[in-house]
Amino acid sequence: MMNNIHSLYIHIPFCNKICDYCDFTKLQYFRNFAVSYLKALKDELKSYKIKNLKTIYVGGGTPTALEDDLFLELLEMIDPYTKGVEEYTFEANPESLTLNKIKMLKEHSVNRISIGVQTTNDKILQAVNRDHTFIQVKTAIKNLKDNGIDNINVDLILGLPHSSKKILKEDLKNVLSLDIKHISCYGLTVNPHTALYNNGFKEPESDVLRDFYDEVEQTLKSQGFVHYEVSNWAKLGYQSEHNLTYWRNEQYYGCGLGASGYIKDIRYKNTVNLSQYLKRVFVSEKEKVSPKDKITYQIMLNLRTIEGLDMSFVKGKELVVDELLSQGLITKVDNKLVPTYEGMMILDQVILSLLN
Ligand code: SF4
Repeated sequence: MMNNIHSLYIHIPFCNKICDYCDFTKLQYFRNFAVSYLKALKDELKSYKIKNLKTIYVGGGTPTALEDDLFLELLEMIDPYTKGVEEYTFEANPESLTLNKIKMLKEHSVNRISIGVQTTNDKILQAVNRDHTFIQVKTAIKNLKDNGIDNINVDLILGLPHSSKKILKEDLKNVLSLDIKHISCYGLTVNPHTALYNNGFKEPESDVLRDFYDEVEQTLKSQGFVHYEVSNWAKLGYQSEHNLTYWRNEQYYGCGLGASGYIKDIRYKNTVNLSQYLKRVFVSEKEKVSPKDKITYQIMLNLRTIEGLDMSFVKGKELVVDELLSQGLITKVDNKLVPTYEGMMILDQVILSLLN
């Protein structure tokens, strides 16, 4: 039978320092844990019959937190799956994306890097316990380009403590000066159990966040970026093919602590408990996706991008569709419903109206 799973996500949960706002699956880096973790990860990868991949994404945590010998071990572990891969991304933090690691990435065919920048304001970075400065970002990006990796994404967070529109404008100016291909901007969420939450910090009000997004949209559009997904802008031809797999509601393998995957009508989530993971008890939750669920996922995911949603998924919802069209929240392109910028900004409402 033809295998039609072409994407693999791998999670490396270790970080050298824990950021105040972080709600990802992450652990403080300890070498012994990392050594055992990589062995378990290798077993998990082997447990799937992975072949013919088109995209690989190694995220975290901080994959570059691994010491050089373990970083190399990780790259070598992934090597057997890279044949024919078109987009191979590593997430990195600026302070640990050393020249040596960049050379290893290049040697092992990694061709896209996503850097956690968050803001270019060093005072704010320090205030939220980030471990880098903007100068380190510039150095890392120069080293990447000098070594032939120029497909680079930068992550920014909107609404961090002490942020303002003025600081956002500086962030955008600074990031644009780096001449990169892709920018992701996420509104800050303050989740329980994070240091920000415990310190009583509140998420930005929705009108403030909207104002920030408007600034991002205008600035990036004027510089030739396409707003192709709610939180993502890219130069033409540099959309993240891996992330598009998720938004197209296509299947993918997910390996590593807390990773999710979607294989043969099963959506699964791996354990977030390291000791379980090291005992090779990888999957903790499974959801069988019924044909009806599939349509729900299709609506929820396809409407996030300008590739849009095929009209066939909203049969019988013509009145709602007409209403959304007249409100300017979606447009119709051929046989697809495509969200407008306004629609993206209140996407949850658009989706809910189509699901009700
Ligand atoms: S580096 Fe990323 S994953 Fe690690 S603590 Fe900070 S935000 Fe979380």
